[in-house]
Amino acid sequence: MIDFFKRHNISLQLLLLIAALWSFSFYNYVSQKALFLTQLQSNSSDLLQSVRASILKFDSIEDTLSLQALVRRISFKLEIFEFRYLDQNGVVVSSMFEEEVGQLHDRPGIKLALEALAAPGQFPAGGRFYMEERDLTNVLASSFPVREGERLFGIIDLAVDVTEFDYLSEASRAAVLRRLQVDITNLLNAVAGSLISRAKVFETLNMHDFLAALVAQTGGVLEVSLAEATGRIYGSSRSLPAQGAWLGSGPVSGAIQRRDDGVYEYRLQVPLYPEGDDGRVMSLAIDASGYAANERKLFYTSLATSLLAILVAVTIVYTIYRINLRRGREENLRLERMVKERTDELRRISQTDKLTGLANRSHLEEQLDIEFKRAGRYQLPLSLALLDLDLFKRVNDNYGHLAGDAVLREIGARLRAELRETDFVGRFGGEEFVVILTNTNLSDALMLAEILRRLVEETPVHFEGQDLPVTASIGVAQMQPSHGDHKAIFAAADQALYLAKDSGRNRVAYMRDGEVRNFVDKPLSGG
Ligand code: GH3
Ligand code: MG
Ligand code: MG
Repeated sequence: MIDFFKRHNISLQLLLLIAALWSFSFYNYVSQKALFLTQLQSNSSDLLQSVRASILKFDSIEDTLSLQALVRRISFKLEIFEFRYLDQNGVVVSSMFEEEVGQLHDRPGIKLALEALAAPGQFPAGGRFYMEERDLTNVLASSFPVREGERLFGIIDLAVDVTEFDYLSEASRAAVLRRLQVDITNLLNAVAGSLISRAKVFETLNMHDFLAALVAQTGGVLEVSLAEATGRIYGSSRSLPAQGAWLGSGPVSGAIQRRDDGVYEYRLQVPLYPEGDDGRVMSLAIDASGYAANERKLFYTSLATSLLAILVAVTIVYTIYRINLRRGREENLRLERMVKERTDELRRISQTDKLTGLANRSHLEEQLDIEFKRAGRYQLPLSLALLDLDLFKRVNDNYGHLAGDAVLREIGARLRAELRETDFVGRFGGEEFVVILTNTNLSDALMLAEILRRLVEETPVHFEGQDLPVTASIGVAQMQPSHGDHKAIFAAADQALYLAKDSGRNRVAYMRDGEVRNFVDKPLSGG
């Protein structure tokens, strides 16, 4: 992997780019998810408060204040000294003195009433009145059973201050007290009726129905269950098995679970009364489907973003790789071209004579070898002319070396200009030139040699205001079947050149049939 990146020159920055895009996407996912969760928690807390408020309202069936308020409202202007409501066991449920609530109240009158109630029929339906002194005050008290038929709900203990009647005559006092008893009985009946009807209302409206209705009413809540401190569920919006159910142990908060029916729920388990110490627990299941859907959407969005980021990065990497590859190829081509140019240049330099710009000796020999073989293979005539400037040493001696060089350059240029493209001309060395005449027989070669000879002789070479007369001797030979290699034809032409020199220079000589002869202006007539 690392090798791949190194080999393709893919920079670390791109890997970092992928990592950065990816971590950004991941961070986004995590933080958004946390935001959703916070929202869910805030919604849940609102729901929790409202559900708790409803349950607490329902719970305060025997609200102390309201019962006391009821008594005050319908007091018939009685001087009520004490009022309390006790359950069948004599425990105070409601009292003017709040500190009594929950305590056993064992006044003799009440005890009597309770004992009498245990034996049905022995206690007057309207309760029993008795005069008592409570807290140094004379009161008319009554222990009044709240009941319907055989069923006892509880006992009202009511005391009315009668001190103001102490100074009346015995007869008047008795009359007043009788009237008071009627008023008190009316009050007690009204309160008892209210207590009975209220108890019955809450009896028919059981906890399950209440909680089910609450859940139906409160959008977003799936389930509410209430449990005692022990964990036993005593009320739930869902129907519980007859023997009751138990809450899982420990407080649960913020657990999101997928239920069997596919719905996501957010479960909270909190004390029913935050300030209370009765240990009751409320378990609340809140619909978290919206949250789950959002989270799923978020997850797929993040995934898509990540993949897109990788795709983009990979595309960039690939593009860079392609660009580098192309650049590399172009650079290679450029280098190859350069090498070829240099090679060509070097070859040209190595093949060229510096002074005249013609082919040099080694190139000449190569070329002659090639043409010799080609002519042999294709049965084509091949002729060779060797040209040597006459008494050239004198030119140098008389006019200087620079003049000699100028002559060599000028003669080289004349030869080049006169010959065909296919004819090959080179400087063999010193003041000797060689012309390879491809596809040319001896007689044509001799005529061309004669033209070249005249070309040298007829126009003197001009150098620094002087005209330098120059002549050349030329030896010509045609390739013969007896020639084993190119050196043989060269040797033949050289022999002819030798003859030309020997015969007085400034002439053309040739080799034919193993003999050298001078070419005297006439075509090959054998002379
Ligand atoms: P011949 O007619 O017998 O050929 O007499 P020649 O003087 O031409 O022959 P020789 O071989 O004795 O002399 C050739 C001279 O050519 C010798 C040398 O000074 C001269 N030469 C050879 N190469 C160069 C060159 O590159 N520049 C100049 N200026 N002279 C050269
Ligand atoms: Mg020479
Ligand atoms: Mg010479």
